[in-house]
Amino acid sequence: MKSSISQEQIRQQLEKVEQRIQAACQHSGRQRDDVRIIAVTKYVDTETVGQILSCGLTHIGENRVQDALPKYEAYQGQATWHFIGHLQTNKVKEVVGRFHYIHSLDRLSLAQEIEKRAAALGIVVPCLLQVNISGEETKFGLNPDDVLAFVHETSNMKHIRIAGLMTMAPVVEDPEQARPVFRELRAWQKRLQELSLPNVTAEELSMGMSGDFDVAIEEGATFVRLGSVLVKPEMT
Ligand SMILES: *Cc1c(COP(=O)(O)O)cnc(C)c1O
Repeated sequence: MKSSISQEQIRQQLEKVEQRIQAACQHSGRQRDDVRIIAVTKYVDTETVGQILSCGLTHIGENRVQDALPKYEAYQGQATWHFIGHLQTNKVKEVVGRFHYIHSLDRLSLAQEIEKRAAALGIVVPCLLQVNISGEETKFGLNPDDVLAFVHETSNMKHIRIAGLMTMAPVVEDPEQARPVFRELRAWQKRLQELSLPNVTAEELSMGMSGDFDVAIEEGATFVRLGSVLVKPEMT
């Protein structure tokens, strides 16, 4: 069951989130404009996506292709679409050409399939490398030790641009415990930028979810992926 929530409730949640984002930017000397909210809509139905857009949010994130397609069809031109979940190779053809960003590039076979589909359409797909900084076995993502070799491979793929890095922090009670994970992802961003490889720009850091986005922003997040804190009013 998808939850339903009124537009007024979303607006109220968003206002609280906005205050927290501004506070985090202030603490860390960052500009508010350098942080964008991706509204993660996996908990809500298609109609609610429309309400989220009416609140002024313009980035939508989905983690499952089948759930995302009806929402995409309904509102495609009104948002920037982010694919944030684990992506099976056989689903790539549904994603390339629709989603503007893929946040979950984590293996070479996936890169090769994205490259093939993007080349056929004559487009360049901005991708974020998902890195498993925390090393939890349950999490997807590249092992940090493999990141450099991986970007050297993808830099030869002309239809993929490595636009940045993404990570999922461990679920912890105190978001401060996630801080080293975010800091480490940022260190990887700097390393990638210093390589000056073709097709590697690495300007984006996709990190921070409902439980830890304040800390992620303090550590440099450019995209925060927010689901429950926006659409589940019983939280916060
Ligand atoms: C669900 C999901 C989110 C949002 O999670 P919340 O904790 O509800 O904000 C962010 N990123 C990914 C990859 C997700 O699957």
